[in-house]
Amino acid sequence: MDLFSKRTQFLGTESAFKIGEDIRRCEESGMTVVRLNLGEPDFSSPENVNEVAVNEIRKGNTHYADPQGIVSLRERIAEQVSETRGIAVDPERVVVSIGAKSIISYTFLGYVNRGDEVIYPSPGYPIYESWVTFMEAKPVPLHLEESKRFRFDAGDLERLMSPKTKLIVINSPSNPTGGVLTADDLAEISQIILKKSDGNIRILSDEIYEDIIFDGRRHKSIASIPGMTERTVMMSGHSKSYAMTGWRLGYAVLPTAEEAMLFRQFNINFISCVSPFIQEAGKAAFENSENRTIVASMVGEFQKRRDFVVDALNDIAGIECVKPEGAFYVFPNIRGVCEYLGIIDAYETLSPEIRDISSPSSLFQMFLLYHHGVATMDRKSFGAIESEGQHYIRLSTATSMDVLREGVRRIGEAAEDHDGFREFFKRGEHFYLGAGED
Ligand code: PLP
Repeated sequence: MDLFSKRTQFLGTESAFKIGEDIRRCEESGMTVVRLNLGEPDFSSPENVNEVAVNEIRKGNTHYADPQGIVSLRERIAEQVSETRGIAVDPERVVVSIGAKSIISYTFLGYVNRGDEVIYPSPGYPIYESWVTFMEAKPVPLHLEESKRFRFDAGDLERLMSPKTKLIVINSPSNPTGGVLTADDLAEISQIILKKSDGNIRILSDEIYEDIIFDGRRHKSIASIPGMTERTVMMSGHSKSYAMTGWRLGYAVLPTAEEAMLFRQFNINFISCVSPFIQEAGKAAFENSENRTIVASMVGEFQKRRDFVVDALNDIAGIECVKPEGAFYVFPNIRGVCEYLGIIDAYETLSPEIRDISSPSSLFQMFLLYHHGVATMDRKSFGAIESEGQHYIRLSTATSMDVLREGVRRIGEAAEDHDGFREFFKRGEHFYLGAGED
């Protein structure tokens, strides 16, 4: 009898949590590493929010709480979502959980059977694909293309939908591309969904970057479109908007109170509840008007950094970078560099086993890290299925201007470093993250 269940072999991962080991190894060897891999704001959670949590702990608010989320926080979330999405939200449809990530797992567990088709963005947040394969559902990647500024249209979706489509995941603003869907995109996409499905399909709308949006744009949600509120699991949370990643606070607005009850039951089975002092602090994040200024200044900083990095990357021969409209990442096309340094040809000479877990962009990622001391994420970290031939890396702008300047300078050097790549490839040690770990 096997120790682990069969399913565990289908569970994916989030490389952003894996790269730390490789960075540590580089630093131990004496290198200084410029970290452009980070998936969290480099700002601290607002002091007024910290104060609330500490005071609540001191007051003894340290016991189990309502598994669905404390009523006052659910009311505040309902109000906030109603105001920003222009829809009526009852607190009975809100469920508070551990980070937004838990909502992804509950959605898959709650709606998807083995063999159901799930459409999800690729490149996209890797946990979507991980859950598709873990549930033994059929992955249907929706390719986001640079030529469309990493948006997609109704036609793209229509081609992928079938009577077996059970769940469609959308993520705007997007990780890793920074692409943002417009109100018109969402209206057209919704028409297709309504035309091609019955009421038993769900849209998981991951809106975790809703506040990190640039050039005066305003976030649009598919849940705002008539007919879609009833089909959309809208998820968001405090991690990115309020730089509260370590607090683990997220929430969903479900189409019905019955579905919220199921998510509540998942909470009971997995976590019991979110710590009450964290929920009180989360409420303060919404309520204290000071936080609007704090969020706006953080977003302004991300926008400045984006402007700098995109221009600086486009100045490097072999790199082309679309200007993202939201989130705190840039997703440059590195095909030219891969061709110039001979990375694509070198990759083809690797054994099928290594090719399977690597890619040309992974080789460039590892070359950047181990030879030039810059940590980035490769294309394959954002959905491996059907990612062949796509040569991109993700850089995070969640770091200071000085660090970004140095990072881009090193990338520029690496992009011309023929001899360095030859040497790196000959050494053959680090063709993918975690190589040689055990
Ligand atoms: N969704 C996307 C698109 C993300 O990028 C992330 C985190 O990086 C999450 C969800 C998870 O958010 P949380 O940290 O609140 O679980």
